[in-house]
Amino acid sequence: MKFRNRAGAILAVATLLAIGLVTTEALAFRMIQNTGVGRFSAGAAVPCNSAGGFTHWTTANIPFRHNTANQGSGKGTALAAAASSWTGVSGANHNVTIAGTTTTGFSTNGINTLLWANGNGCTGSCLAITALVLASGQRITETDVSFNNAVTWTTNGNNYDTQAVATHELGHCLGIHHTNLTGTSPRPTMYAYYFGSGGRSLESDDRSALQCAQNRYPISAALMASRSAEAPLLGAEGATVALSARPRVGGAVLRFALAEGADIQLQVYDVAGRLITTLVNGYRPAGEHEVAWDGSSSTGPMPSGVYFARMRTQAQEARATVILAE
Ligand SMILES: [Zn+2]
Repeated sequence: MKFRNRAGAILAVATLLAIGLVTTEALAFRMIQNTGVGRFSAGAAVPCNSAGGFTHWTTANIPFRHNTANQGSGKGTALAAAASSWTGVSGANHNVTIAGTTTTGFSTNGINTLLWANGNGCTGSCLAITALVLASGQRITETDVSFNNAVTWTTNGNNYDTQAVATHELGHCLGIHHTNLTGTSPRPTMYAYYFGSGGRSLESDDRSALQCAQNRYPISAALMASRSAEAPLLGAEGATVALSARPRVGGAVLRFALAEGADIQLQVYDVAGRLITTLVNGYRPAGEHEVAWDGSSSTGPMPSGVYFARMRTQAQEARATVILAE
């Protein structure tokens, strides 16, 4: 949600003064955490490595449809530009598109809809509101954005700039909460308050948020087979490889299964995508295998937290989240 009112601006300044020292961190994006099942427009703001995880997509293709009623007319180019900003984030496979128009509204119907309306929980100083439809495991299965039709929407940079607010709301649609960064220039689009057409562009804080989602909940690129929604930590549906991990004191145990013998590579990465260690690099026979990771890299022990494991054969790939316990 995005607010425009002066009370909001005062609140933002007060927050800056109160936590000024904390905001010196380079990246301060937050993700939306909500373990409920159903339709929501709220969630906790958590960091990338939150033990409780966060809302995320499990498919690369995220097509939206544009309802041109009310002030939606003439906004297609602005919406397409907002979508392509997120699609263009390197290191993330989310393919956000405007796939056409629709007459559907702000309702759970399997269509990701962008529309203009009075209501839908967004009136007064609210500029736009996003709803996420969540399945178990914080999987986003649908999302809708309602722009407040009671204010004036433009495409020329004047208030209120459609592309800037759409870019922000599409960030919410991807599971990204408001950034904790305040007072920086240029501001991330996920800043909580409207700041003009500067919100059209993504900053490193915004891009890092989507890269965090990709690293923690890997999705294959759009051209590859889409991941099975029922087994988000395994490979693509019908895969003949599988990988899982469970924590143990001082490390983690990774378990993998092969339908047939293969040369495999099993590696551990951190949340930023950096290679930490290679656990297996060679032939393994068909069947189930277990490998212990002692929590160390080539340069020494790693801090406890969230890591990712990736197993590759020549034809397939499987990934799992690894919790490195104390
Ligand atoms: Zn917002």
